[in-house]
Amino acid sequence: MSTTAFNAFEMAQAQFDKAADILDLDSGTRDLLRNPLREFHFSIPVRMDDGSVQVFRGFRVQYNDARGPCKGGIRFHPAETIDTVRALAMWMTWKTAVVDIPLGGSKGGVICDPHNLSQRELELIARGWIRQVAKNVGPITDVPAPDVMTSPQIMLWMLDEYETIAGAKYPGLITGKPVGMGGSLGRTEATGYGLIYTVREALQELDIRLDDTTASVQGFGNVAQYAIQLYNQMGGTVVSVSYWDQKDNTSYVVRRTEGIDVKQLLGITDRFGGIADDKAKELGYEILPGDAWIEQEVDILLPCALENQISGETVEKIHSKVKIIGEGANGPTTPDADKVIQDRGIYLVPDFLANAGGVTCSYFEQVQNSMNYYWQKDEVLGKLDIKMTSAFRAVSELAKKRKLYMRDAAFVIGVNRVAMACRDRGWV
Ligand code: GLU
Repeated sequence: MSTTAFNAFEMAQAQFDKAADILDLDSGTRDLLRNPLREFHFSIPVRMDDGSVQVFRGFRVQYNDARGPCKGGIRFHPAETIDTVRALAMWMTWKTAVVDIPLGGSKGGVICDPHNLSQRELELIARGWIRQVAKNVGPITDVPAPDVMTSPQIMLWMLDEYETIAGAKYPGLITGKPVGMGGSLGRTEATGYGLIYTVREALQELDIRLDDTTASVQGFGNVAQYAIQLYNQMGGTVVSVSYWDQKDNTSYVVRRTEGIDVKQLLGITDRFGGIADDKAKELGYEILPGDAWIEQEVDILLPCALENQISGETVEKIHSKVKIIGEGANGPTTPDADKVIQDRGIYLVPDFLANAGGVTCSYFEQVQNSMNYYWQKDEVLGKLDIKMTSAFRAVSELAKKRKLYMRDAAFVIGVNRVAMACRDRGWV
């Protein structure tokens, strides 16, 4: 699969087909689960700061709601496509099922580049997006959340617009809200922390002490930053991290063998995601090309950026020392790369299990919104750890019992739960 021909939805469908074969699903169930239940495509006209009108394309894909209201984030990205949103919505469906929370799967997006937009323009896109889908989302139908390049502030603008339309308060409409405005403590950390809870379990399976390990991370967004923070707290060392510099549309890696320091790096990162190289060098970091993250001599690789990063072409660069890949991103590994990873016996913690901490905490956020009573951070993170650990164990036990690759085991559990819900409801 070459980079230009990459289609995330075709990849997600190929992964699904493999699971459907293992589960021996009937053709009706296959047809239903291979495609979204509903999609919305719309235009969002925005009066820009310079007085011109720009029209942005927006999407919401409600993939499946047999297990509960649809759930999934909204991504603002210049390279967004409907097929990417479909793939992400499909993965959300298996994600909520594998962690066994009573929700379905959906995803949304807007084709735009937040780096080139003012706060006012971003707010108008956010409000325009929710106006377009206000009749079709809601706390008991479809609950949006943040994803790549959307933030708690964007969630709050959307909530405010929705509540203005509805004429009442519905904090459970959307999750990932700011703390104090219906958000949950721990939500910001949840995806990165959840990833490390599963990596900790994988290390235990392999009988490796976490504090003896090193890792290389791709991406320096919300997931990566909190994953590194918790992994460091547990005693691990991250030797390199890649970041995307919007100014020249290029990725770079910063490496420091004694370990990178997230706070220090954030202190020298500009609003375009670029890290000042002169300052980084003074602090003892080397600057390498962006694809160097994958070839580091480390125990653990944590892809925490976008889809299609470990492909047939790049998988060969993975160092023989690597024992675990923990996928913080959605869809970072293509099926041809999966074959190589499986053959080499690298332990994979697959994306919709590894990064399910975000949506699990979103579910806790909605529960708190319904009670109108908010938990302490320790309570949230404690509950998150329990959910992530038990989901990990269910997948790893099935993988061992049926001699399955971890991704296939996660798919079998997720798809089977959704298929059963469809059957129990009499849909298929
Ligand atoms: N966007 C996150 C994900 O891909 C979180 C979704 C949510 O909280 O609903 O899992």
